Amino acid sequence: MKNMGLNELRESFLSFFESKGHLRMDSFPLVPQHDKSLLLINAGMAPFKPYFTGEEIPPSRRVTTCQKCIRTLDIDNIGKDARHGTYFEMLGNFSFGDYFKREVCTWAWEYCTKVLELPVDRLYVTVYQEDDEAYDIWTKEVGVAPEHMRRFGKEDNFWEIGSGPCGPDSEIFFDRGPQYGCGRPDCDVGCECDRYIEFWNLVFSQFNSDGKGNYTPLVNKNIDTGMGLERIACIMQEVDSLFDVDTIRHITEHVSRICGVTYGQDAQKDVSLRIITDHIRSAVMMVSDGVMPSNEGRGYVLRRLLRRAARHGRLLGVTKPFLHDVVETVIEENEGAYPHLREKHDYITRLIRIEEERFGATIENGLVKLDAMVQQLKDEGKTVLSGDDAFRLYDTDGFPIDLTVEILGEQGFTVDRDGFDTNMREQKKRAREARGSNALIGWETSGLSLQEIPATVFSGYETLHDTGKVLAIIKEGELSSNALPGDEITLLLDRTPFYAESGGQTADRGAISWSGGSAEVLNVTKTGDGRFFHTVRVLDGELDVDAAVELSVDRTRRMAVMRAHSATHMLQKALREVLGTHVEQAGSLVEPDRLRFDFTHFSAMTPEELKRVEDIVNNAALEGYPVTVSEMNIDEAKALGAMALFGEKYGNVVRVVRMGDYSIELCGGTHLDNTAKVGAFRIIGEASVAAGVRRIEAVTGVETAKLFRHLDEELHLTAETLKTTPADLTKRAQQLMNDLRAVGKERDALVSKLAASQAVELFASAEQAGPVKVVAARVDIANMDEMRDLADKVRDRGADVVCVLASVLNESKINYAAVCGKDAVKAGAHAGNILKQIAKMTGGGGGGRPDSATAGGKDASKLDEALHSVRTIVSDMLK
Ligand code: ATP
Ligand code: MG
Repeated sequence: MKNMGLNELRESFLSFFESKGHLRMDSFPLVPQHDKSLLLINAGMAPFKPYFTGEEIPPSRRVTTCQKCIRTLDIDNIGKDARHGTYFEMLGNFSFGDYFKREVCTWAWEYCTKVLELPVDRLYVTVYQEDDEAYDIWTKEVGVAPEHMRRFGKEDNFWEIGSGPCGPDSEIFFDRGPQYGCGRPDCDVGCECDRYIEFWNLVFSQFNSDGKGNYTPLVNKNIDTGMGLERIACIMQEVDSLFDVDTIRHITEHVSRICGVTYGQDAQKDVSLRIITDHIRSAVMMVSDGVMPSNEGRGYVLRRLLRRAARHGRLLGVTKPFLHDVVETVIEENEGAYPHLREKHDYITRLIRIEEERFGATIENGLVKLDAMVQQLKDEGKTVLSGDDAFRLYDTDGFPIDLTVEILGEQGFTVDRDGFDTNMREQKKRAREARGSNALIGWETSGLSLQEIPATVFSGYETLHDTGKVLAIIKEGELSSNALPGDEITLLLDRTPFYAESGGQTADRGAISWSGGSAEVLNVTKTGDGRFFHTVRVLDGELDVDAAVELSVDRTRRMAVMRAHSATHMLQKALREVLGTHVEQAGSLVEPDRLRFDFTHFSAMTPEELKRVEDIVNNAALEGYPVTVSEMNIDEAKALGAMALFGEKYGNVVRVVRMGDYSIELCGGTHLDNTAKVGAFRIIGEASVAAGVRRIEAVTGVETAKLFRHLDEELHLTAETLKTTPADLTKRAQQLMNDLRAVGKERDALVSKLAASQAVELFASAEQAGPVKVVAARVDIANMDEMRDLADKVRDRGADVVCVLASVLNESKINYAAVCGKDAVKAGAHAGNILKQIAKMTGGGGGGRPDSATAGGKDASKLDEALHSVRTIVSDMLK
């Protein structure tokens, strides 16, 4: 048995199958392309589904790959058993209707025993119990001893998902020896312990299942195999677990150093170290393929892994962000096979650091809260945390629900998941309502037999008018032979000039006509294999399948969209020039003369930077660069320096959009023929959309003109209101501000004069209560300070004065101010207590010091009565 490094093993597998006539292909990105059924690639065969079903033609009938995979289903086992990771690489060889069982078994055995030199007496092979064919091939042709064969049932050795291609499989196991076993007497191949470890699965897909238990043999039989690279490395290197394999061990060690924990000394801590190692590997690979942390889908998987790793860091006593420090080691260990990791080094590190910092800011708080919640559950003798509490932790402290479930689970508690989901749905609903509904009209194609319908020929790059034929009409989710006025349908045509929404560019709209009728096109989408779905409303006449139709794209709208799209390319170029080459497109939306461009950058742009970007784009327009589009080989395009989309897998032939020597990008959208046609470009907003992602919104052409006109009108209107001209507006505004200040001063002087005379009057109205003079009156002063001023002025007239003033702001709001002179206080009067009582009589509250207080009331109808009682209240207070 050879001792081979992980990188060496990868190469040995791929070149072995190359020698057997296989085409070696690169790993596909972790984000599935054109496959909405899958969140993340989880097996070598996943990207090849269209080849297996015959929907697409493979580049070769024999292919071999090493595919990056993410499997979060295994997350609970990570770090606890020897053989699971959330990220791993799967080696595979595939036959698309080419070779079958005999070849694949022979080659697998040859690879295991001749190339890897695995000892035959430690290898075991399983087959599906009814698959005598495979059993015979293994024992009679390949030469595996019958004692090393096992037959298992459907759950172990039959590969099937719902209906479709399926078949039996064979798995190859390695016996790592009793020291890794569970010790049970019946421990054998297939036991859950780490002794017999499955490392290679050979799937023979030979049937088509109708999903009801009927299996018909496939004409084109396929082979797909999967061998875990880390697993075979673990076996070959004779180490305990995946985490001790050469390349991964370096990462585990780096994590141990940071955490100040020696690996291999404490079982519990080792689990944490392995979890961190595993999750940071996954995170780096996901980020490098364009996944960004979020609360949904893939982004959620990433966020959950990072936060779970951060929490295990805490368990080991690390309180500061540290995961981003490990990124460098992960890249070092993987860049040989995945060179793009090095290019993205800064980006990955920063993105992970920001996500860590975000969570770091709240984790402490969240853990304290969670502890308190657990304590309360214990006190109340409950075992289930409410959905509301779990949601609060999620919403304010960023605890992914799975993390909460896991932490509680460790202490024997569970979470009301339904309650949490309800909270979540409500939050989403509120957000949706706040955004306003712009739901697209859905079409459901599953269950419809559209396979027969060929890909749509798209003529919209060259023309805006075309003639086509109706191939299918979908009405209310079902195929229909015709459509009538008023119907909203989905239409498939043999060709179309209508651009389907993709690459951020919005779909074309326009009109369809035929002899005897017409319809409008509301939206267009397309499938991965190039079928265009037109959402259409029939205006008049009957439309039938097979009808010949005239198709016209709304030209004004399309031109506006092209202006915005070309401007988007110019913008990206300008951003990279001004901010640096870490700027990558993270998303875009291109609409008529409006664009939204999301890009990676870590701080808000300064007004200066925005100005420079705007100038560069406008300059590029003024230069009038010719825009040319050409198709070429991907390598050629890359050599030319074409900007590609992050994490996007391109075919061999790509479409390249060039604007003079200014910009060159891979793009499938529609463009102007000259940059000058963009017109004027104006940025209207810059903001953050997620950690490390900024968004620019801008306008072009007609919208810029509209914007300027609008600003101009506002300016004129303002000038007119201020009785001046736009040219003198600033001067006028300054002058008005000065005038206003002067008027204000005058007013203050008048108010104070008025108050003085009012004070005299109020003082004259005082009634005697024992030794003090009581003034209680309603005044008409909205400003509390001014009212208090007035009360002070009354008091200034005598040390024996008690003065209570009230002012009604509206039916339900009264302000009170009360003051007592020195002698009045000595005699027992207390401003605060007086107000407390009368405020209460008018439904309010308040209070304060003996000499001065303010309060509020609500019920103005009781005010007279309240003021009337002031004298009695004061009398009662006096000593
Ligand atoms: P297991 O039962 O051990 O989880 P599986 O049946 O899920 O394996 P397959 O789906 O057949 O595995 O995948 C093919 C191969 O990929 C496996 O034989 C194994 O070598 C590897 N593999 C599967 N899951 C993982 C994982 N989580 N981590 C590392 N390698 C894996
Ligand atoms: Mg599994």
